[in-house]
Amino acid sequence: MSDIRNQWRDLVRRHALNFDQPGNDRFWSPELETASRERLREIQGEKLALAYRYLWECSTFYRGKFEQAGLGPDSIRGIDDLTRIPVTHREQWLVDQEEHPPWGTFSPLRQEDWTERGWMLFTTSGTTAAQPRVFRHTTFDRDLWTWLGARALYAMGVRRGDVAINCFGYGTSVAFWGLHYALNLMGVPVIPGGGSNTERRILFINTYKPTVLTCTPSYALYLGRAMEDAGLSPQESSIRLLVCAGEPGACVPATKKRVENLWHAKMHDDFGCTEVAMAPLGYTCSEQVRKTDTPVDTHLMEDAAIPEVLHPDTMEPVAEGQAGILVVSNLYSEAQPILRYVMGDWITVDSTPCACGRTHARAVGGLQGRNDNLLKIRGLMFFPAVIEDSIRRLVDVGDEFKVEITHRDSMDHIKVTIEPASQIPKSSYDPPRERVARALKGSLGINVEVEVVPYGTLPRTQFKAQRLFDMREKIGKH
Ligand SMILES: [Zn+2]
Repeated sequence: MSDIRNQWRDLVRRHALNFDQPGNDRFWSPELETASRERLREIQGEKLALAYRYLWECSTFYRGKFEQAGLGPDSIRGIDDLTRIPVTHREQWLVDQEEHPPWGTFSPLRQEDWTERGWMLFTTSGTTAAQPRVFRHTTFDRDLWTWLGARALYAMGVRRGDVAINCFGYGTSVAFWGLHYALNLMGVPVIPGGGSNTERRILFINTYKPTVLTCTPSYALYLGRAMEDAGLSPQESSIRLLVCAGEPGACVPATKKRVENLWHAKMHDDFGCTEVAMAPLGYTCSEQVRKTDTPVDTHLMEDAAIPEVLHPDTMEPVAEGQAGILVVSNLYSEAQPILRYVMGDWITVDSTPCACGRTHARAVGGLQGRNDNLLKIRGLMFFPAVIEDSIRRLVDVGDEFKVEITHRDSMDHIKVTIEPASQIPKSSYDPPRERVARALKGSLGINVEVEVVPYGTLPRTQFKAQRLFDMREKIGKH
């Protein structure tokens, strides 16, 4: 008789339909992607019950949490029991890994699993010198990520015949690898741009004619501008699809429009989370991506994860269509079948049918930002993406900008620094300054100080952008 670990892997694998190739020309896994909502709940419930038992038996961290909540080994029998499971916060994970170095006890993986069929070590991104959180995954996990990634890319329109250039970092973050293996499975050759510099990537695009570009939204702008500076045209390049991750850019209408105009290509969004949704949790389909002036919705991979929307204070589920914070349970990993992990992004979910034919619910407007990135200024609350959208709607304003928030004279102040779109003399700075100030007043409802600096002054972003500097935190006047 197989043990719980094998039972879990068998169940996950049994539900992984069309594991090696697409089922038809529209959907990679047609039966899953167009399943009824009832069938999706059934699949989720069956996997949830076994994931729970697997964690009960094999994860010290989780068993402790379950016991503390008064649960027993058979307490979770289906999807209706989901909310009995306590949520897990990032900080709890941190403490567990600090107390039990180097891996922590949340993962059900044993040392022998790691050495027998370990695939790779990953870490959270973070740029500080502090010890990153680490995650081990097995070859079983790799194959599941690959399959899920292929489903998402297929929904975006990537097909055999495409050639991809993957410009995520070849390192310990998950983005590069998930995409790389998925493209391999799809029969799409990959030019690994991860270890190259921008000059080289431009050469690769210009010479080897890839049709799919994967990178952060900031880098899509940076690379396109660098091509223009080199006298080449991204519009006329071979790139027809951009698969962007790492920032909410593809869901910020003005940024999406800017990138799509720059490359004359469609810009897709692909998001996940290193802790709980290593393969794509959300992705845009070829129907959603047609939107040009409104935010795109991203499908949620519901047979492979359970996305919940909870009220941030009560942690109780909110009604569909209401905004709340995203909590996710993983239903496919051997190393991290994490249940009810608080991703913390604000989300609104819509499960009405999508024009593409998929039945999986969508995050309306994608992910707008994490709860801890929500800016509170003079009684107003908004995400930095609102500022980005307002600035990038203006064609005579450059791609880069900086936002500084200070507290003086008992008041919060926002200052935005922009560049003109091209080199113009200082005497011509007033029109863009006034337009940006007007646009921000319109979208935020407060006056914003705008400074224009010469083109090329602000730092160019090559990976994830750091554009917001909230100086209030340092002096504790939040
Ligand atoms: Zn769709």
